Amino acid sequence: MSVTLVGAGPGDPGLLTVRGLERLRACDAVVYDRLVAEELVDEAPEDALRICRDGLSQDHVDRLLVELGRELDVVRLKGGDPFVFGRGSEELEVLRAAGIEYDVVPGVSSLAAVPAAAWIPVTHRGLSDRVTIATAHAADGSEPDYDGLAAAGGTLVLFMGLARLPALAAGLIAAGLPAETPAAVVSRGTLADQAVVSAPLAELPARAAGLPGPALVVVGEVVALAESLAPLAALSA
Ligand code: SAH
Repeated sequence: MSVTLVGAGPGDPGLLTVRGLERLRACDAVVYDRLVAEELVDEAPEDALRICRDGLSQDHVDRLLVELGRELDVVRLKGGDPFVFGRGSEELEVLRAAGIEYDVVPGVSSLAAVPAAAWIPVTHRGLSDRVTIATAHAADGSEPDYDGLAAAGGTLVLFMGLARLPALAAGLIAAGLPAETPAAVVSRGTLADQAVVSAPLAELPARAAGLPGPALVVVGEVVALAESLAPLAALSA
């Protein structure tokens, strides 16, 4: 009896780890996020309990994990990596306080995998020697630290930024990032309907308007590398 947080990867079911798949195939119950591929949920044993967390509050999920974890081997299947903007650590705190055994199987976070799916390396020797990840959607509704982000250098990878893209671009430019900094939105990265829009930061909001989520915003010189890294066949397509 235990609860294992398993990172499901960014979307493409092929990006689940081997260990994650092993745990999933051996579980009695799986509690999964809305964005997790159906094919992965199907990997749980036929008679396993399947619960989608969509529409449940975090409190409810926490209680559910504690109740199920007392009786069953539970896999808590979460998008990307459980510890990257995934509230995995909050769930562990609750399990620990309740005396439930737990484990974590890391996942492929969209952090680097989604830019990679658009042929954007988050670091590149001589071009970007650091990556800053941030959310555009703070829990308390506060604005991102634009000054800190603009001064960070290297590559910015911004989660949950699609809805706030105009404010995000304007905030970064007002804080000192050049308007022409290469930037991209990668929508539904690694999935069959992935879409990528690249544009100078100032033009990105207009160009990316209407793209569906989930989407990641990448800002920095590395974005311009996609053109020279994408296979020739992908460019002519
Ligand atoms: N734990 C996850 C992140 C959860 S927060 C991870 O490690 O990847 C959810 C945000 O992640 C989305 O709003 C989006 O910004 C990003 N994201 C997750 N999957 C994505 C995908 N397939 N394509 C683009 N962005 C994605």
